[in-house]
Amino acid sequence: MVDGTAILFAVKAFWALRTIIISNMKNTARTLFTIAAICVFADPGVATAANALTHEYLITVDATMSSMQVEASFGAPVQALTARSSDARNFIRDVRNCDDDTRIRMRDGRMRLPEKGLSCLRYSVNLKKAAAAERRNASLSDRNIIVSPAAWFWRPELRDNEQIIVRFDLPESLAVSATWKPVPGERNTYRLMNSLRSSAAVAAFGEFELVETQIPGATLSITIMQPTAEIDTDRIVDWVRATANNVVLAYGRFPNPATNVVIVPISGQRGRDDSAVIFGHVIRDGTETIELFVDQAGPIADYYESWIATHEFSHLMLPYIRSRHRWMSEGFATYYQNVLMARAHQYSEEIAWQNLWEGFERGRLSRPELSPNGAARAGIGGATMKIYWSGTAIALMADVELRQRSNGEESLDSVFEKLQECCLPSDRSWSGTELFRKLDSLIDEPVFMPLYRQYAWAPGFPDVESLLSRLGVDVRDGNVQLQSGAPLAGIRSSIMKER
Ligand SMILES: [Zn+2]
Repeated sequence: MVDGTAILFAVKAFWALRTIIISNMKNTARTLFTIAAICVFADPGVATAANALTHEYLITVDATMSSMQVEASFGAPVQALTARSSDARNFIRDVRNCDDDTRIRMRDGRMRLPEKGLSCLRYSVNLKKAAAAERRNASLSDRNIIVSPAAWFWRPELRDNEQIIVRFDLPESLAVSATWKPVPGERNTYRLMNSLRSSAAVAAFGEFELVETQIPGATLSITIMQPTAEIDTDRIVDWVRATANNVVLAYGRFPNPATNVVIVPISGQRGRDDSAVIFGHVIRDGTETIELFVDQAGPIADYYESWIATHEFSHLMLPYIRSRHRWMSEGFATYYQNVLMARAHQYSEEIAWQNLWEGFERGRLSRPELSPNGAARAGIGGATMKIYWSGTAIALMADVELRQRSNGEESLDSVFEKLQECCLPSDRSWSGTELFRKLDSLIDEPVFMPLYRQYAWAPGFPDVESLLSRLGVDVRDGNVQLQSGAPLAGIRSSIMKER
């Protein structure tokens, strides 16, 4: 029996955390078991945690979210502590050695630690000032804020046998959501290992919505920041699920079993081509997080028309690739964003090929003197279209080659499925050639390194024209017309269909 007090308590507890668990009730037990198994097997940190040298951080936030107290106890004395953002020096206050309560001086944005090292650190952070400097808060209600750890988290570099445990102590009325790896079963507690770090990492505090939902192969933890206006949380969750499910259409499951999503509503802005999804990116900081900025005025139906979320989720099919081979990560994500939206019936087959053809034309006109590697070196801003579309052309070439020589048994989908089995999620950075060699090792005859040798350093644009013509993608007056009699017409249509 449940009495009124218990119900009131439950309601209060729910109000404090405002967590909604949407799960398939029939399969709850099996799902829970699967999640537990994934947590144990996918996290080598759990196995080594007992032997690891541990630095412990306790972080206290006051009810008004105006200040934060940080106390760190180091497993061994540390010689240097840094924050990722150079702005962090503007928010830190009262830095002390808590062993003897002496003050630690700051000079040129650096902490002057004792020569014998430091075992205990205490400082406060002007959270209000840090939140005001964070552009992500522009349209959010003052009951919830995002402040990147880059702006307040002073920490030592970690070696492989070291970890940091971060525990947040918050008033009942506040929740926290950080884009770090949670410690299973421990509330508001995270474990950081020697892995990729991001200056865009998120720590959210306040009364936002935190929703966990299952899709094939993954639990999505969705943090929905609350804007000043009303937003329809349930419909935003439906949209996030639908776009993440687009990636499931590649090989039947989502590539990362524990993925974070952060939704930041913005007012008075639209993305390129008047898109209601303004901008998105992947944050890799011990976990993988997709952060999406949306027009809070919606309507949410417009979110479905944007390719941005599908593009960002597609990035998770590959590990983090270093910027000198950026055409690989952007190219494969751009290829898949079009393929997957066609498979999800958001694009017709014709529209998907139209998008690809138009993109190849933009890529061809962008910095023709540069090779894909040269464009990556010139960087986003210098050669954006060359980076994105030369990589997309090479993705298409690889996919067609794989399908052609295996009679459709193999494809980019099946190779990426094997990559996920062996190597994802990966919390380190990869060079592009390491990735291409790994992909080649997963198939009988290499496809990827031969394409690399042919195109990566070649100025101009990869030769997709003859390939498009063999696929039956004809273009008249800028309009794609699909030819069913073309030699590779079967491959063309199978690319855009779910396996
Ligand atoms: Zn991208």
